[in-house]
Amino acid sequence: MAMNNSIVSKALILLCLTSIVVLTLGHAHPWLPSETPKKLALKLSLDNQTLSLASSDFGFIVHETPLAVFQPSSVNDIIDLIKYSNSLPIPFTIAQRGQAHSTHGQTMTHNGVVLNMTRLGDIKNGSRIVVYDEYVDAGGEQLWIDVLSATFKHGLTPFSWTDYMYLSVGGTLSNAGVNGRMFRFGPQISNVLELDVVTGKGDLVKCSPVNNSELFYAVKRLRLLYNEFSAFTNDQEHLISFHERNDTRSADYVSGYIIVNQAPLDLSFYPAHYQPRITSLVTKYGIIYSIELVKYYDNNSQTHIKEEVASLLKGLNYIPRFAFEKDESYEEFQNRLHTTELEFTSKGFWDVPHPWLNLFIQRSRISDFNEGVLKGIILKQNISVGTPSFYPTNRNKWDYRMSAVTPNEDIFYVLGLYRSSGFDKVEVEAHEAQNQQILQFCKDVGIEIKEYLASYKTHEEWMEQYGSKWQLIEDRKAKFDPKRILSPGQRIFN
Ligand SMILES: Cc1cc2nc3c(=O)[nH]c(=O)nc-3n(C[C@H](O)[C@H](O)[C@H](O)COP(=O)(O)OP(=O)(O)OC[C@H]3O[C@@H](n4cnc5c(N)ncnc54)[C@H](O)[C@@H]3O)c2cc1C
Repeated sequence: MAMNNSIVSKALILLCLTSIVVLTLGHAHPWLPSETPKKLALKLSLDNQTLSLASSDFGFIVHETPLAVFQPSSVNDIIDLIKYSNSLPIPFTIAQRGQAHSTHGQTMTHNGVVLNMTRLGDIKNGSRIVVYDEYVDAGGEQLWIDVLSATFKHGLTPFSWTDYMYLSVGGTLSNAGVNGRMFRFGPQISNVLELDVVTGKGDLVKCSPVNNSELFYAVKRLRLLYNEFSAFTNDQEHLISFHERNDTRSADYVSGYIIVNQAPLDLSFYPAHYQPRITSLVTKYGIIYSIELVKYYDNNSQTHIKEEVASLLKGLNYIPRFAFEKDESYEEFQNRLHTTELEFTSKGFWDVPHPWLNLFIQRSRISDFNEGVLKGIILKQNISVGTPSFYPTNRNKWDYRMSAVTPNEDIFYVLGLYRSSGFDKVEVEAHEAQNQQILQFCKDVGIEIKEYLASYKTHEEWMEQYGSKWQLIEDRKAKFDPKRILSPGQRIFN
């Protein structure tokens, strides 16, 4: 899915190109907002406050001030803007901005226009999330939390989510949308029935494939602790194998965390009286590992849930007695990271730089990764990493025709280093340097990795990331966005 060539919309609005294009033949200088035809100019914001807001993102690492911010009221406005840029001798770039939860400037441009997609969600602009029997039709600007609320009213929910719900539909579909359910259903991009997209030429195009619906009321959520890496990964892989064997006992969500001996430890999930014992374990081993396992249930399955969970745990090799469980509503579970967000915001830890690193790692070298990266770099250097997530998933749930890339093995691991840093430049650089060191280590010892939400700076790095898919990506860009107008902040072609 070459989403970087297009803007996700879901509104079925037909192309209407009557009064938009003023061909400015003879222009040889870069575009100036003051030259914009009136109809479009009315939707450009040029004030410093708006420009400043559009020049930053969740990462607080890259800062680029655009020439203007475009506030569309409809998909036609977006089409008009793109057509107008295409008509200029020197087209300006257009950076789509959803919730700007990117970490390395992916929603920014310094010589063009930031397209504020959230404007399409304003009620007066016809915001919609329409729920049907087997699918939901949502605008690209909509938040996943709102999709959940809307579908839940109908007793339905999509199969594939991200862990955090205040992200836009278009923003996560531009990447993949990964979490601990994808071993069963694939990433979000594998669960899209149809997309309406506007290309870099300003054409509105429909593209397809799947649908999903389910109904749950509650979840049983468990965490199991390990001091042995191989026992941890063997058990994770065992848990994701149930679904592959069509064994109905399969867990619904399998994830994992790495608890590194770095203060402060986040042990909020665990019962207070157990926290000192867990802290002792972490101090003793330096790193311990935790599987998160979730089983959904409803009124009908409620009576069996305990037996089902017991049967899943049978034969697992976690540290005896270090298994903890919680019952939550389905919505509480889906929206669990919002609680963290509120807590971090109140402590001033949310709006800070986020030098994140997200990796997909080949399974066959995962113990080398543990020794070389988790123990050899992260534990040794003691640069804070928070509580990284770490779990295996099945590659057969990914559609190889899409532009998302994964290691070339049936199972690969997903690592999320959710770093928060102070505003001190030296601190941010230390985090970024460690990220680079991890990437370099993998390269040096030949561990195949793919960066997720990649923040590469050069064309060559992107070519390496896409590997054998590069030609396809280049061809799609040339076909759908030949003047390379869209998504300059990804730095793939600009
Ligand atoms: C707290 C937190 C938790 C996260 N958890 C997860 C997780 O569990 N799983 C996961 O996969 N990711 C996760 N992410 C990463 C997240 O999916 C990406 O950062 C995603 O891009 C965020 O969506 P957004 O709306 O903020 O997109 P933005 O940052 O606004 O945009 C991202 C990219 O998408 C493009 N874009 C945005 N909207 C559109 C549109 N309508 N049409 C076309 N292109 C568009 C932008 O130009 C940009 O290139 C998390 C991020 C944060 C901050």
